[in-house]
Amino acid sequence: MTEGVQGSAGFAGSVEKEGARGLGVMPSATGLATGSGTGLASGSATGSATGEGVVGSETLDPGFKYEVAARPGGENIKACFACGVCTAGCPVAEIDPQYNPRRIIRMVLLGLRREVLSSDIIWLCTSCFTCYAHCPQDVKFTDVMKVLREMAVEEGYVHPSFPSRIEALDEAAQRIRREMAVELVSRKAEDATFDLGEVLSGVTRRLGLGRE
Ligand code: SF4
Ligand code: SF4
Repeated sequence: MTEGVQGSAGFAGSVEKEGARGLGVMPSATGLATGSGTGLASGSATGSATGEGVVGSETLDPGFKYEVAARPGGENIKACFACGVCTAGCPVAEIDPQYNPRRIIRMVLLGLRREVLSSDIIWLCTSCFTCYAHCPQDVKFTDVMKVLREMAVEEGYVHPSFPSRIEALDEAAQRIRREMAVELVSRKAEDATFDLGEVLSGVTRRLGLGRE
């Protein structure tokens, strides 16, 4: 997989690691077999098996990628050559093996419209732009994700108010992270161990996010 990683030498090792995870979407004579690890099924935050086992060709929408590419931010999706740099550097993928930007892109390109737009996993991106910055093909996956979310709303997979809840979550997460960092940094000269749970409780209380 590293042959496709141009100008991203710092990611080479982790790209190989990501490559070993596989796409979870395998072409087959009968259509597209989706493994239980696709992470792109509705019904759970981390994605679970659809139970369908095989997605027949009648479920494919060949126009899906063109619709994504026609929207601002989605223009370069067809340039993806599946190198895996995006997944290798993604902080969400680091903690959730079901989350795989490269696989999401492959599924869009394959036309798995319903599987992608109904998926809970498209809401897990934190818009950190790491993938955006390192993609050798300038796919701008952070923006692609925004396009997929827009389409999910438009097609009724989520309530129109849902994106604002995700935005509120992202803002709260940043505030919590910032406050925790300040607390830890304030004692940076000490040889101290920290109970992160305790620090988190204190910060969430201070921010008015805690529960008594
Ligand atoms: S989006 Fe970019 S970084 Fe990710 S697999 Fe495609 S070409 Fe590679
Ligand atoms: S923008 Fe989203 S998909 Fe890209 S690296 Fe960050 S969390 Fe991962």
